[in-house]
Amino acid sequence: MQCEICGREVGGQLSQSSVDGAIVRVCASCSKLGKPISQPRSNQFRPVSRAFQGRPLGSPSRQHEIEDPVLELRADYATMIKRSRELLGLSQQQLGGKINEKPSVISLVESGKFRPDDFLIKRLSQFFKIELLVPLEEYE
Ligand SMILES: [Zn+2]
Repeated sequence: MQCEICGREVGGQLSQSSVDGAIVRVCASCSKLGKPISQPRSNQFRPVSRAFQGRPLGSPSRQHEIEDPVLELRADYATMIKRSRELLGLSQQQLGGKINEKPSVISLVESGKFRPDDFLIKRLSQFFKIELLVPLEEYE
């Protein structure tokens, strides 16, 4: 058998290697030039990289789209709501009238003492056109 790169006569086995896209039979020293093929080595790399990334890579992207992202109330919700209300020039009473909520509740929410429930978050988000919920990943 002859190495297709250096032309050296090799008594033993030649390994197949991919050099610039072409598959050639090469000796041991020339096999370092290309990517070895026909060995199950590429399969062994996968679990390693998965473990490294810490999340499954194999999950189909379709599934990812269907899944609801985990959303979390943003940490600065109180400031955000207060600022949005003030930008519109509304008092807490006026806002309360528009989204059907007690002004005292809005006051507590804006001071960060009361965490709005999902329904109130939805009404505030829609009224101000702001995102009060953010994907949990952004805090990681
Ligand atoms: Zn060679």
